[in-house]
Amino acid sequence: MPSDARTKACPSAQPDMPGSTVLGIVEGTADDPEVRYLASPVPAAAEITSLAGDLLPTEVFRFSADCVESNCRHFDGRDCSLAKRITAVLPPVIDVLPRCHARPSCRWWHQEGAAACFRCPQVVTTTVWPTPEQMTVAEPSQTGETHAS
Ligand code: SF4
Repeated sequence: MPSDARTKACPSAQPDMPGSTVLGIVEGTADDPEVRYLASPVPAAAEITSLAGDLLPTEVFRFSADCVESNCRHFDGRDCSLAKRITAVLPPVIDVLPRCHARPSCRWWHQEGAAACFRCPQVVTTTVWPTPEQMTVAEPSQTGETHAS
């Protein structure tokens, strides 16, 4: 599917990005996370992000926000390279499209189609102890903390 318009949304965003809303909540375990998508978006307000307690909001929630394109290290001038790596490296964890309110504007969906959605629930935006596979996908920073955003 082609990626085109500037109106696309990033489904692994930060809570302070323009238009940020809560996409889902990270459930499951540290080794086997599973995002549960909210039925409808909730603004990423401070009273929501504070529910993460001592953890980073991006360890507990997935946020969706306006794609900032060239202001993101994953944007290659046309596409989201993070979405490409997710579909190339990570295994599918589901085989039916999840109910996801972000789909109409989701850059990953518009770019990679169902292959992105089948892998999406395992993506945690900030993983403190990433696996080698997750490091490959997210291009780890010098700190060892991995951000899929
Ligand atoms: S990749 Fe699919 S499941 Fe994930 S946020 Fe985008 S539309 Fe939703």
